Amino acid sequence: MKIHTIIICFLLFYIPLFGQTKIDENVSIEIPGKVHHMDTVTNNASVSSFYSNSKTDSYLVMRMAVMSNGNEVQILPVDSSGLKRIYNQIIGDQIKSMGKKGFLLRNTQEIKIKDYLAYRISYKTVDSQNQSGETLLLCLNGIAYVFTYSRADYYIEKHKNEFQNSLKINSLAKQIATVKTDSKGGFSFADLISYGVIGFVLIIFFYRKTRQKSPWGINLKPIYCPSCQTKQPFIRKPANQRQALWGGHTCSKCKIEMDKYGVVITPEN
Ligand SMILES: [Zn+2]
Repeated sequence: MKIHTIIICFLLFYIPLFGQTKIDENVSIEIPGKVHHMDTVTNNASVSSFYSNSKTDSYLVMRMAVMSNGNEVQILPVDSSGLKRIYNQIIGDQIKSMGKKGFLLRNTQEIKIKDYLAYRISYKTVDSQNQSGETLLLCLNGIAYVFTYSRADYYIEKHKNEFQNSLKINSLAKQIATVKTDSKGGFSFADLISYGVIGFVLIIFFYRKTRQKSPWGINLKPIYCPSCQTKQPFIRKPANQRQALWGGHTCSKCKIEMDKYGVVITPEN
């Protein structure tokens, strides 16, 4: 009886910490530490994030889908060049978004995960040529997935590899439509998707989130310290893991910490 209780306690304690995080029917991945989850749904897009932000490492998984009439649109590009166009738009957004967090593009690389076409984007910080973050980008069933490991200070390749290697993909997931759509009726919806509608919808999504000052936004406007009005540098090394995950600045003059919109951050938030 006693042994039984011990085993149950062990499982209850360890499953939330070390188990796979199921993102949806297509993918799951092991995110170390305490995993937070946030969903944002608008008329046109649905974005979910799963993140864990310890004192040292930042892990972020994003799932981005196009919405239409309250449902997710899961129409696939008709060929691999359509798929690559979608990737190119999302890669552009990712580079911009990571740039605002203080991570500069090092290189992008087309890779295969099992038989799926994917991209690897690696980043460095402003004062270092060494790697400081890496994103895996994967499109499955018309949904875009972003898996990012980053660290503000000392990057640990092993943590990045463990994170990426724990990725599990449902082998039924598809990237390209297997049945050719009838194109006699002119420009089909599938054609639109293959011309990068996902990227376009997501650009609108992130633009709106920027106006709402949401953590999703990508603020490209200059920021001034709310305390001493010093203009914050556009490119700087993230000072801590919170900045690595969500962006923001630490004022070089008065050391106040602010978010990416220039709003003071108090210890509680
Ligand atoms: Zn200041």
